[in-house]
Amino acid sequence: MMNRTSLRILVLVPFLWVLVLAGAAAAQDTAPAPWFKATRVADGVWVIDDHGSDNMYLVEGKTKALLIDTGLGIGNLAKFVSSMTSLPVIVVNTHGHPDHAGGNFQFKTVFAHPADFERIRLFSGKEFLKSSRTRAQANAIPGTVSLAEIEASQPAELQPIKDGYVFDLGDRKLEVIEVPGHTRGSVCLLDKANKLLFTGDDNNTLVWLFLKECEPLDVYLKTLEKLKARNAEYETILPGHGTPLASDFLDDQIACVRSILDGSCQAEPYTSFAGEGKVCRYKRAAVAFDPENLHSQK
Ligand SMILES: [Zn+2]
Repeated sequence: MMNRTSLRILVLVPFLWVLVLAGAAAAQDTAPAPWFKATRVADGVWVIDDHGSDNMYLVEGKTKALLIDTGLGIGNLAKFVSSMTSLPVIVVNTHGHPDHAGGNFQFKTVFAHPADFERIRLFSGKEFLKSSRTRAQANAIPGTVSLAEIEASQPAELQPIKDGYVFDLGDRKLEVIEVPGHTRGSVCLLDKANKLLFTGDDNNTLVWLFLKECEPLDVYLKTLEKLKARNAEYETILPGHGTPLASDFLDDQIACVRSILDGSCQAEPYTSFAGEGKVCRYKRAAVAFDPENLHSQK
């Protein structure tokens, strides 16, 4: 059964990624660059740029590698990643949005929080992917999958993870931290030994909290405070969009969200291809929110 939220997603989805994909199409006017670009950001860690749309990360341990997110699903990520590492690759989604879970179909198994399974299945489904790929006009871009490859694919098997689950890569361990807010099933991954926190869309310089699937803002504040309490365990935040951030970025986010909840922020209108809300800013942080979804029902 499709609920109202899913229906709304299906209606909105064809328009969601037009801006991003239009950029990809424009790139064809000159010699096309390959879809992906990888840049080393720390020892054994690379950010994979998904044609300007989002960040994925490949983390290498001694015996295994971890791929954090699968992007839009237009580039051939499985092939690209296999060119980067010879180790067996574990795949995890930070949350169930189309620019983070779209490439799941290229892998046999993907780990994710079960609260986001429904969205992950929708956004990594064939119909959604074929539509994204067609709009991206990806034919001329090296490193993309074909419509036939999408058509012939099988969905990844989803494996549930929760708070405290540890991905063991041999000499390197990454702990799952549940961070409900942007979606209910959002997770961060903490590499404590290397002081790195991979945050999906939980800690971007602009975080979207206005979408229908977002948790109330006071839930997100609890999430930020939970991450702040563990501040000593990481120095660098590696977000799902944008460049790395210092761990004290959390302070700006918390101040920003508190200013919304206590009414001291003069919110401005916020519009995007995914909907409308209000936005407040504090130093490096901005949070776009729904004024009707500030407090959880108790
Ligand atoms: Zn997202």
